[in-house]
Amino acid sequence: TSVPITRVERYVYEIPAHGEMRVPARIYADEELIEELTAPAAQEWSALQQLVNVASLPGIQKAALAMADVHPGYGFPIGGVGAFDPKEGVISVAGVGFDINCGVRLLATELTRADLEGKEDRVADALFHGVPAGLGSTGELKLTEKEIDRVLREGAHYAVNLGYGTPADLTYVEEQGRMSGADPDAVSRTAKQRQLRQVGTLGSGNHYVEVQVVDEIYDEEAARAFGLAVGQVTIMLHTGSRALGHQIGTDYLPFLERAARKYNIPIRDRELVCAPVESPEGRQYYAAVMAGANTAFANRQVLTHLIREALNKALGVAPESIRTVYEIAHNTVKFEEHEVNGRRKRLLVHRKGATRAFGPGRPEIPERYRSVGQPVLVGGTMGTASYVLRGTEKGMRDTFGSALHGAGRAKSRTKAKKEYPADRVIRQLKERGITVRAHGRSSISEEAPGAYKDVEQVVDIMAGAGVIAKVARLRPVVTIKG
Ligand code: 5GP
Ligand code: MN
Ligand code: MN
Repeated sequence: TSVPITRVERYVYEIPAHGEMRVPARIYADEELIEELTAPAAQEWSALQQLVNVASLPGIQKAALAMADVHPGYGFPIGGVGAFDPKEGVISVAGVGFDINCGVRLLATELTRADLEGKEDRVADALFHGVPAGLGSTGELKLTEKEIDRVLREGAHYAVNLGYGTPADLTYVEEQGRMSGADPDAVSRTAKQRQLRQVGTLGSGNHYVEVQVVDEIYDEEAARAFGLAVGQVTIMLHTGSRALGHQIGTDYLPFLERAARKYNIPIRDRELVCAPVESPEGRQYYAAVMAGANTAFANRQVLTHLIREALNKALGVAPESIRTVYEIAHNTVKFEEHEVNGRRKRLLVHRKGATRAFGPGRPEIPERYRSVGQPVLVGGTMGTASYVLRGTEKGMRDTFGSALHGAGRAKSRTKAKKEYPADRVIRQLKERGITVRAHGRSSISEEAPGAYKDVEQVVDIMAGAGVIAKVARLRPVVTIKG
């Protein structure tokens, strides 16, 4: 296509505002990645087209942003960030994603790699059986309709009050595990019904529990603050708001489509429907998203408890020795203060497959980490590495304090399924000392390491751009897939 792309920094490309665009689109990439993204044949081009559509929405501030793990999503790229003026701007289902508040929690143990030697299968079995997962699995909590409303309002606090984990966990969860502004009445009965047996389930596909080992430290000071050291065993949990979040998205798409028409918002893509932030429709969707977010917080809190129990069973470690390092979500929309044209401004920031990555000093960061910046958790694949990063001041200026959330898909699920038979993937991982258990066989193929971009490359792009700084690299030892 003829869309002009220019390089504006070593790792930043820009599509200048043209046509209906209100702001430029900026893409974090190196030469290789931008070539892939812009190759005419690449379906990935549609990620940039989606980014241009986001840049055309009313009230968007500064630029529509694509992190280095960008790939096409439903109406709004995964790895995309869009910040809006609350008065003139919009809120959109596609900008949040269907798995509302999907996120990653990192747990740190007092174990080292040697403590797992020869016990990998035992650990894998304990986690496989102790953490409900897969399609149709039922969770730890069996809730009534009244109780689910409390989950929607109280988030992870509801789980802690029932004895799942401790208040200390909540200190290290984004927003302390609870979004205000949630309204259970904005969530349909269908959505709630679907969730009554799903709090405390991992889900399927790309969701996982992974036992890892810290194999490299890049930033001693930050690693010390986060309590991470080489050789240490960590556990990464990735899941979201399950059926309830998805149902909220499904319910609100036609609702926001009607709103877009009502308020005369020009829609360039039917998937990118939206409502003015401060319209009754926009407010209602926001209240539903906050409720969905709280479900995800509760879910990860219950699963944290189950992971502790499983490791206690397999290795005899004390549950309380397993500490929450941090939890950060990557399908969110929230009000935050940022500097725009030299002035502090309240913005509504959509992060779809992108995490918050606040720099040093922000009050939202737990005190213990505040001087080094927020921990940023990036999953790689079950066969490569994952990362702990930290937010920076440059990120606050350039990306509204946002960063990448993963390696980013490079091959479609259909293609991956054909190219990577599950048995072969499992065998190849085993040969490299990685034990995998999956509830669904297709998730092994679809999530095979080859289906993703090179995580080291995408992380180095974001680090090279100065938006985040690398703190630690984690290697997988045992992965449980949904
Ligand atoms: P998403 O939330 O977009 O579905 O996935 C987030 C990221 O998780 C992906 O971009 C991918 O890099 C990462 N991921 C997928 N499967 C695994 C896994 O088994 N282990 C790890 N560590 N990361 C994974
Ligand atoms: Mn998810
Ligand atoms: Mn996710």
